[in-house]
Amino acid sequence: MKNDTIDREVVDVLIAGGSIAGVAAAAALSKLGLSILIVEPGPSPGRRLAGELIHPPGIEGLYELGLLDENVPLGSAVNGFAIFPANLGDASDCMILPYGKSEGKIRCGMAIEHTLLKEHLLARVQQFPGVSTRIGSRVTAMEGDGPYTAVVSSADGDERIEARLILGADGPMSQMRKLVGISHVTQRYSGMMGADVADTFLPHASYGNIFLNPVGVAYAYAVGNGRARIMFEVLRDADPKESVKTHLSFFPDSLREAVEQNMAENKPLAAANYCIIPESSVKSNFALVGDARGCCHPLTASGITAAVKDALILRDSLLETKRDNEFDFAAALKRFSRICGRLQLTRRTLAEELREAFLAQTPSDMLLNQCIFSYWRNSANGRMRSMELLSMLDSSIFSLAVQYALVASHVFRLLPLWYKEKKLSSWFMGVFKLFSKSLEFQHTAFSQWLKA
Ligand SMILES: Cc1cc2nc3c(=O)[nH]c(=O)nc-3n(C[C@H](O)[C@H](O)[C@H](O)COP(=O)(O)OP(=O)(O)OC[C@H]3O[C@@H](n4cnc5c(N)ncnc54)[C@H](O)[C@@H]3O)c2cc1C
Repeated sequence: MKNDTIDREVVDVLIAGGSIAGVAAAAALSKLGLSILIVEPGPSPGRRLAGELIHPPGIEGLYELGLLDENVPLGSAVNGFAIFPANLGDASDCMILPYGKSEGKIRCGMAIEHTLLKEHLLARVQQFPGVSTRIGSRVTAMEGDGPYTAVVSSADGDERIEARLILGADGPMSQMRKLVGISHVTQRYSGMMGADVADTFLPHASYGNIFLNPVGVAYAYAVGNGRARIMFEVLRDADPKESVKTHLSFFPDSLREAVEQNMAENKPLAAANYCIIPESSVKSNFALVGDARGCCHPLTASGITAAVKDALILRDSLLETKRDNEFDFAAALKRFSRICGRLQLTRRTLAEELREAFLAQTPSDMLLNQCIFSYWRNSANGRMRSMELLSMLDSSIFSLAVQYALVASHVFRLLPLWYKEKKLSSWFMGVFKLFSKSLEFQHTAFSQWLKA
C-alpha cells in the first residue's frame, strides 16, 4: 500500500544486491559519472557454497573495473580445466584444457574464496565516486507499473527511492524479479556438498580439476592461502553419503584421504544447483543482472564471469546509446537485453549439453561423452576452442555449433568400438540424435545471425 509519509530519495541507479553482480555493475556505472546506491541485506546466516573459480574474461573485467589490484593477491591462479573422465580409463586420461594465449601472454583465471571475494569487492566499490551503500537494508516493494520506484526497508523503517535505472542483482532466487512480475522457468538439478583441504593434494594445482563419474561432477581447485575447495554434486533423490563415497572413489588416494578427514571433522558446506530462465531481463526502468538474470548448472564455473560481463555490457550499452550528452536508458536496456540474451543462450546450452554427456545416463549421452573425449584427445586446437567456450572468452552460438559438429564427427572413429561391443543399434540412435542436435544448433546460430 502506498504510504506518502515515508522518506524519499532520488539517485541515478539503485542496485538491489551487493554481491558480485551488483558491485560489478556499480563499479562500471560509477565510471559514467552516475550516482549509485547499493542496497544489501548483509551476510545471510550460515555459509553456503558459491562461485570461486573465475575465468580470464571475469578476472580481466574485474581489473578493468578497478575492483582487483595486482598488488593485493587474493586467490590462486587458474590456467584452465583438468578433466578426469570416469568412464574412459584412469587418471592418465586426464584432459588439460588450457585458456590459451592473448597477445603472446598465457591467459589466466583465478579462484578466490567466495566470502573473501564478496567482502573485498564491496569494500572496494564503496571508495568509488558516486557510490553509496545501505547495508542491512533490502528492497521490499516496487511501486508503479513502470517506471518503478523501489521501497527500501531496514530496521529504521522504509524509504522510497526513485531511480532512472533499478537493477535486480539479488541472485538466482531473485525477489526483485517477482516484485516487477517477471516470471521464470526453474529446474533444480542437484545439490552440492563441499569441503576444503590443503592445495598440495590437488593433482593439478594450477587448474580447475573436474572429476566426472556416474553420480555427478566433482570439482577441486586451489582458492589461495594454501587451501583448495572440493565440491561434490549430489543428484536429486540420491543418498548424499553414498554419492560422496562414490565421488571419493574416483579421487587420487592422497586427496581422498584428506577430504575424508576434513569431512569427518567439519560440517560440509552445501548449495543447490538450478537452471533458471526468466522470461525477460528488462522491464521499463528495471533490469536483471548476474544470477537474477538467469543461471545454469555450475559445470562451466562461469557465473561470476557472466556477472562481470553483464556489468561491462550495461556500461557499453549506455555509452553506445548516449545522445547529446544524455543517457538513453531505454535504448541502452534494449541493447543490454539483446546482447546478454545471446551470451546466456550459448552458456546455458553448453552447460546443458555437457551435463547430459558427462552424466551419460543414456547410450546417446554416452556416445556424445566418448566423442567429446575423442575430440579432445586428438585435437589441441579443439581443447583450446572448447575452453574458450567454457570460459566465455567466446560466447558465440556459431562457435558452439561448429564445435558441436566437430565433436559429433568423432562418431565414425568410435564405430569399431561400438560394433565390437555389439551396440550398433544404440550407435545409430546416438548418431541420429547427435546430428539432429547439430542441425538444431546450426539453425539457432543462423536465426540469430538473421536477427542481428
Ligand atoms: C555450488 C555452486 C558452485 C559455483 N561455482 C562457481 C564457480 O566456480 N565459478 C563461477 O563463476 N560461478 C560459480 N557459481 C555461480 C556463482 O556463485 C554465481 O553466479 C554468483 O555468485 C552470482 O552472483 P550474484 O551477485 O548474481 O548473486 P548472489 O551472489 O547470489 O548475490 C545476491 C545478493 O543479493 C542480496 N539480496 C537478496 N535479496 C535482496 C533484496 N531484496 N534487496 C537487496 N539485496 C538483496 C543478497 O544478500 C546477496 O548479497 C557456483 C554456484 C553454485 C551454487
